[in-house]
This record gives sequence, structure tokens and C-alpha cells, in this order.
Amino acid sequence: MKQVRMIDGRTFTPSKIIGIGLNYSEHITEMQSKRTSEPVIFLKPNSAVCSLYEPVPIPTNRGAVHHEIELAVLIGKSGFNVSEQEAPEYIAGFGMALDLTLRDIQKKAKERGHPWAIAKGFKNACPVSDFFPKKQFNNPQKLELKLTVNGTIRQHGNTEQMLFKIPELIAYVSKFFPLEPGDIILTGTPSGVGPLTPGDIIEAEIEGIANIQTKCVSWNHVE
Ligand code: MG
Repeated sequence: MKQVRMIDGRTFTPSKIIGIGLNYSEHITEMQSKRTSEPVIFLKPNSAVCSLYEPVPIPTNRGAVHHEIELAVLIGKSGFNVSEQEAPEYIAGFGMALDLTLRDIQKKAKERGHPWAIAKGFKNACPVSDFFPKKQFNNPQKLELKLTVNGTIRQHGNTEQMLFKIPELIAYVSKFFPLEPGDIILTGTPSGVGPLTPGDIIEAEIEGIANIQTKCVSWNHVE
């Protein structure tokens, strides 16, 4: 099973990665979607986890692969149906993730009313940074996110723009899925998503978490 690291040396094995869709209004606009009254949820399996400190493997024959930079919340203790007030107690720390998305496949799935499982859950669809203990953050709801590809800024937002805030997301998710230590919640992406191809240089930064430069490689290249 894939593991993620905290900078204090602890390791966690995510039983699941819970993605939140459409949580920034400008991204909803660029997706030609509509704001929802409840969070949009999808899952990635443990096998989607890979390291942002390594080259990012990109599938090359499955249509467009889009980057989505996101604040990742690492869950530190078990819980079910937790309240918004209790939600912060369940957070171990924060990290940075790319919610890689097979956009053409997702578009088809949306048109047909089919699940997004392949579009969001394929191998290596969730490169993540190390995680940092929550005590290091004064306000995780006010962090700049920035992603450049080959030196051009594609995404630039702030976690204050989230429509559903972190405690709301944890409470909502936990109505359906028991939270387990190591689980990761991806909190949604600001606007500016776009395609990646092998050879692209990505620079991903979330204020107070990480600034990582990495390269996209062909998926086959690493198999
Ligand atoms: Mg996303």
C-alpha cells in the first residue's frame, strides 16, 4: 500500500482519498458547471498516491490529463458523522496535492451520467507532498496556491475562496465515509486547470507548505 509522510517522521497509509469537486467559483465557471448546494464528492484509491518529489507520470493515450492544484487535508483519527465544530480535531496536517484528471474521459462520463472513477482514480492520479502538522498553520483557510507549467502561471488562487470550508467538508464527508487516520481530503481547485504532457516542467506552491518543481514523464516511462 502507498504511504504518505508527515515531516515529523510519521507515515500514514491512506485507506481512501476523498476529492471535492467544484469548490471554487471561478473553476465552476470554467467547467461550465453550476454551484451545488452540497459538496461534490469523488474517490481515488490508495493506488493513486505518488510523490510530488518524483517526476509525475502522465498517461499518454487516454486523452487530456489536467492538473488541479489543491490543499490536501490529512486525517489523524477515526471518526464518523463528526460535527463541523469537532472537525478540526480530526486533522493531522496539511499538504499539497495534484488532483490529476483525465478530462476527456470525465467529460464523456458527465455527458452520459456515468461515474468519474477512471477519470479521477487512475494510477498515480494523486501526487502529494509531505504533510505538515496543523499546529504550524494559523489559518489554513488563507493560503495562496500557485501552479506554473513551463514558467507560465496557470493557476493562482487562495484557500479563502473555497465555497465549502474545511470543517464543512470534513463534517459532510464523514456522514458517509468513516474517517480513518491517513485518509486525505482534496479540497478542490482554483481556476486555470489545463493539460499536461510529458516533458512539461511543473512548479507547484502552496504558501507555508511547499514549493516543488517537478517534471512530467510518460506513464510508460516509469512502468
Ligand atoms: Mg480537483
